[in-house]
Amino acid sequence: MAVYQQVLTQNGFIDKNDLYYPFEERGLQFGDGIYEVIRIYHGKYYLLNEHVERLYRSAESLKLKLPFQKSEMYVYLDELLEINQISSDAKVYLQATRGSAPRDHVFPDADANLYAYAQDLARPLDKLENGVATITRPDIRWQNCYIKSLNLLPNVMMKQEAKEHGCFETILHRDNVVTECSSSNAYIVKDGTIYTHPETNNILHGCVRLRVKKLVKDLNIPFKEEAFTLSQLHDADEVFLSSSTAEVMPITKVDDTVIQDGTPGKITKAIQQAYEKDAGLR
Ligand SMILES: *Cc1c(COP(=O)(O)O)cnc(C)c1O
Repeated sequence: MAVYQQVLTQNGFIDKNDLYYPFEERGLQFGDGIYEVIRIYHGKYYLLNEHVERLYRSAESLKLKLPFQKSEMYVYLDELLEINQISSDAKVYLQATRGSAPRDHVFPDADANLYAYAQDLARPLDKLENGVATITRPDIRWQNCYIKSLNLLPNVMMKQEAKEHGCFETILHRDNVVTECSSSNAYIVKDGTIYTHPETNNILHGCVRLRVKKLVKDLNIPFKEEAFTLSQLHDADEVFLSSSTAEVMPITKVDDTVIQDGTPGKITKAIQQAYEKDAGLR
């Protein structure tokens, strides 16, 4: 998998082999930073505005001063694709931290560190067609999950557990109320209506989630931002998740429960089609 050579940093573009950070760096020592994963289809950003808006919201929530104005960020992100001649399906990973400084919990007097690079990323076509299996676990994260922060230890532990069970994702719940997944948003369909957790501090406000909300409105499918319970999850007609890399992914199994006949549901497939059209994929 190619990691493209020119990396965007707070000081402009540099060769990826010249990118070094000291070990006293806020991201390394405290996870004191934020990130975005942005999808690229056929060399073009998908949902770029949504990602940039969220990046600046996350920064503001953590009182982290980004090195660029929003308008400059757009220019640099376009240049990142141009300089690296990205023309296929890819992603951009971007992270910003509170900078390099001697270790101290108190904010340092330092400029933020930022880097962003592009990497090839094929669509997960097989999983999109056949669906994935999941497990459920308690949501052990903090109270500000709307911030896309680098503190991903609970997410990492929960995703690894899914893998060890031969599953793709872990669906999280607080006191039996489903919030989202370890790195994606969660939805059920019951009697023709889609349910997903409202945009509170307990979930990450997904860019794809936002787009799904718009797409289903155009499709006239009822969409309720109402939390559902674990038992409603196991009893659902359809289950799916969404993220920039997983797109709109059918879930065919939750713990030991096979959802319906174990194949992706009709409404999920309709949303997948609308997504592909929206992203210029069909
Ligand atoms: C990034 C992320 C998502 C999905 O967000 P998108 O903007 O749709 O990619 C959902 N949940 C968590 C915990 C995430 O980190």
